[in-house]
Amino acid sequence: MYQIGFDVGGTNLKVGAVNDDKVIVARRNVAFPKGETYQNITALMAEQVRALAQELNISAKDFKSIGVATAGSIDAAGAVILHAHNLGFHNVPMVDEMHRYFPDVPVFLANDADAAALAELHAGAFRDKKTAVLFTLGTGVGGGIILGGKMFKGGMGRGNELGHMVIQEGGPICTCGNKGCIESLCTATWLIQQGRRVIVEYPISLIHEKAEGDMNLVTAKTVIDSAKEGDTIAKDIFNTYVGHLSSAIASIAVLLDPEVVALGGGVSLAGDFLFESLRERVKEKSFFKVYHEVVPAQLGNDAGIIGAAMLARNEE
Ligand code: BGC
Ligand code: ZN
Repeated sequence: MYQIGFDVGGTNLKVGAVNDDKVIVARRNVAFPKGETYQNITALMAEQVRALAQELNISAKDFKSIGVATAGSIDAAGAVILHAHNLGFHNVPMVDEMHRYFPDVPVFLANDADAAALAELHAGAFRDKKTAVLFTLGTGVGGGIILGGKMFKGGMGRGNELGHMVIQEGGPICTCGNKGCIESLCTATWLIQQGRRVIVEYPISLIHEKAEGDMNLVTAKTVIDSAKEGDTIAKDIFNTYVGHLSSAIASIAVLLDPEVVALGGGVSLAGDFLFESLRERVKEKSFFKVYHEVVPAQLGNDAGIIGAAMLARNEE
């Protein structure tokens, strides 16, 4: 039996058919059609499900469940996406929409980072952990919390929005409209913006050389690699970034005292260079003055799909 898992993010709409061993046996990835009506977007999602069924030589109604992990907050009933600013979704009745196409298949909906944390709990960095926190550093910053060995759904059922905790008064404007949220200071986008500023202001920087003086070629990796190679300006940016991220981690650590904090998303691929300085800075800021375990997430880009497919089991 296969379960469908969708990972709906600001950049990509990913979907996979997952088997009982939590392995993705078939997958599809399309660009998220931002600006389209939600009806068109769910039609595109239904098309992907049919394509996967065809690839597996089964009928779409034979999928055991459809799980949708999406950026944004979910209503308490787990049926409607209340607000997903990066997707342009407001009050989208996702479960009803999926049922319109697949009336016989149970449908589950959750926040993408919550689902990713669930996947890490079952098959990754959070195995055998009771208290754990995941930050996903992608287009937005997501947060997933494991409490008492279970995915924490929020006191009122809306999950958590760790990425929108405010850590800097008067900080940069966030996609949610507030200022100084973790999301406005800890995404790859923040690193890219800083790198672009350097291209204009400091042509002597390695960032300028690596991006061939072209703003459009600046990535988070350009900035991190330049810092790794000792470029002073890049190091300043990197240290500021680590400062923001360590504030986010230390704040959540003092609240939950987690056994482990994992980071997912592109930036987390920066490896030891990032994680070693991060652990130092988190310790400095930690109330307990200890090294909190801060590790890369293990399931990488597949966490959303696997977690979404597992939502059905979470309800069992
Ligand atoms: C959203 C979260 C989501 C995160 C990652 C944030 O902008 O508010 O709900 O988990 O992006 O996609
Ligand atoms: Zn925000």
